[in-house]
Amino acid sequence: MIKTRFAPSPTGFVHIGNLRTALYAYLFAKQQKGHLILRIEDTDQERFVEGAMESLINTLKWAGLSYDEGPHPDDLTQSIGEAGPYIQSQRLEIYKEEVQKLLETGHAYHCFCSLERLDQMRKDQQERHLAPMYDKKCRYRPKEEIKQLLEEKAPYVIRLAIPEHDTLRFRDLVRGDLQFESATIDDQVLVKSDGFPTYHLANVVDDHLMKVTHVIRGEEWLPSTPKHVYLYKAFNWERPEFAHIPLFLNKDKSKLSKRQNDVAVEDYIKKGYLPEAMLNFIALLGWNPGAGETNEIFSLDQLVEKFNLGKVHKAGAVFDLERLNWFNAHYIRALSVEEFAGKIYPWLEKTDWFKGTADDLQKKEVYRLLPAIQTRITILSEAPAILNYLLAEKLEYNPSLLKNEKMNVDLPVAKSALQACYEDLKKHDDFSSEDAIKACLVKTIDRLKFKNGQVLWPLRVALSGQEYSPGAFEMIFLLGKEKSLERIGKTNSSLAATPANL
Ligand code: GLU
Repeated sequence: MIKTRFAPSPTGFVHIGNLRTALYAYLFAKQQKGHLILRIEDTDQERFVEGAMESLINTLKWAGLSYDEGPHPDDLTQSIGEAGPYIQSQRLEIYKEEVQKLLETGHAYHCFCSLERLDQMRKDQQERHLAPMYDKKCRYRPKEEIKQLLEEKAPYVIRLAIPEHDTLRFRDLVRGDLQFESATIDDQVLVKSDGFPTYHLANVVDDHLMKVTHVIRGEEWLPSTPKHVYLYKAFNWERPEFAHIPLFLNKDKSKLSKRQNDVAVEDYIKKGYLPEAMLNFIALLGWNPGAGETNEIFSLDQLVEKFNLGKVHKAGAVFDLERLNWFNAHYIRALSVEEFAGKIYPWLEKTDWFKGTADDLQKKEVYRLLPAIQTRITILSEAPAILNYLLAEKLEYNPSLLKNEKMNVDLPVAKSALQACYEDLKKHDDFSSEDAIKACLVKTIDRLKFKNGQVLWPLRVALSGQEYSPGAFEMIFLLGKEKSLERIGKTNSSLAATPANL
């Protein structure tokens, strides 16, 4: 059976690049009726973050990437699947046993070198412009000496004995044939002086014991892969296939960084991105379904069907937020009003004006306004502010917003425009469509002999109190006759009290 795995370290957030790793591993496994494993790589105790595992699992749940084996989402002390536990800190005995085998066969050795010695070595190498590498002193220590040091309980690490003078060749499913000289590969530490395994040991042991057939991971792990291949050889285990997927890049082609983009999936969730949009967007960053396919919108199931590891690109993929926004807007528009309401209410519950005070009438009002909101927003978090000013009893804004130099609107113009609009709309009966409202106001503009903007700008501001909002006709349509007149009238009378030179 095909098995892939997602093996994050619980750092407190899921990097957006890691979400794509999880997605590709999911797509590849599902396509072949295989299993996706979630394995938590938490052997670095210094980086322990409280609650990180739970939030990681929740993020995967949000994305809809369900795994077939891994920690039980409701009880992390339990596992789903037969190769558990799937949390590395619960598997320490396994690593100890396995590394023992390597010591016995001579593929690993105890290293007693002090930190001071290693530091000095590194400094000397740096001065000579050499790559930092362990000089293998302990690899060739006499057996007797090792025995004695162990009896004396001298502190040690365990290192992998990388074969000397070897050329390692292997094929990566994305990057093709690769070749490494063993002389350039360090005798990797497998067990640290505190007895904890390093990433390399735990990762390889687990991939083997969990019967992983395909390791799909970010390109940043490629330099570790030769060490892993040598580890498989040392254990005499069959190794899985490797596929290293390209990095996400900032627009300037540097590695995706916090300074230029949000990198945590949780930040995108907080801003109101939809999982469908996010998955669609990241799936196409680094892969596309081929020249014949012009469609860009793919559901998770469609991605499962179309995904092809062989078509994953080698080059890094530029993370373009505008494209993500385009996908998100698309998926928002595609929701039914009921579905949209279901997404929006949790956002409204977080606001003061809706929370607690929302009665049935207010809920009805919100529901009536939702279609207008749905065609307008890019991310869900924008909805509460728009709804707030649509529903507000009283608008608070700076009257200077009514002015617009470019459109030739000063306060006297604004006042005349609002006065005329008020009178005409009051006499008007048909508020059933934006066009009907427009028909009325076009006459007002004619009568005043003003330019469109000279009327519609102050009118829109009087109705919304916002610099940016739906247009005047749509605002009136959304607010209805009574509320529109009330807002226009209030602004107009407050203008009487405002100095014209404001
Ligand atoms: N624990 C590593 C990470 O944090 C996993 C790398 C791998 O997939 O081998 O990404």
